Amino acid sequence: TVPVYGAPGTKQERTFIAIKPDGVQRGLVSEIIGRFEKKGYKLVGMKMINPTKAQAEEHYADLSSKPFFNGLVKYFTSGAVVCLVFEGKGVIKGGRVLVGATNPSDANPGSIRGDFCVDISRNLIHGSDGPESAKAEISMWFKDSEITQWNFITPVYE
Ligand code: UDP
Ligand code: MG
Repeated sequence: TVPVYGAPGTKQERTFIAIKPDGVQRGLVSEIIGRFEKKGYKLVGMKMINPTKAQAEEHYADLSSKPFFNGLVKYFTSGAVVCLVFEGKGVIKGGRVLVGATNPSDANPGSIRGDFCVDISRNLIHGSDGPESAKAEISMWFKDSEITQWNFITPVYE
């Protein structure tokens, strides 16, 4: 079995996806999870939480010097968040494609941000941006026991 954060570069690559409070409150949980499921990524971790300020600050630690940091922490802690781990071939990069560009006005139609939001500070969803952040974020938000291994009978990729 792979570590909780998966094995980047293999079909057990994993990424951390969070549906931010605006996504939950706008009723987009099923839409967002559905897009990842239908693409063929395997859902292996799922929980709903109210993030603490400390968790938000840790999650976004590398942005702490940015002018929008305090607003970002307020936004992320303003309501319930759905935390997800998806697994699959190329899921870190492919997940970012499903998410779309950070600024919704640059996000392509067909992406989650491109289809459902307009404001960079209310952009619905988080997705790990590379293998290091995926490792750090999955390890931060999920315990080993919260990841569930299961198998496709008919694989959608080899
Ligand atoms: N953000 C913001 N204003 C900015 C840039 C980013 O409010 O000018 C927020 C936005 O919610 C974004 C998050 O900070 O999703 C993290 O920024 P990052 O550059 O990591 O974008 P992401 O990886 O989410 O696309
Ligand atoms: Mg980021």
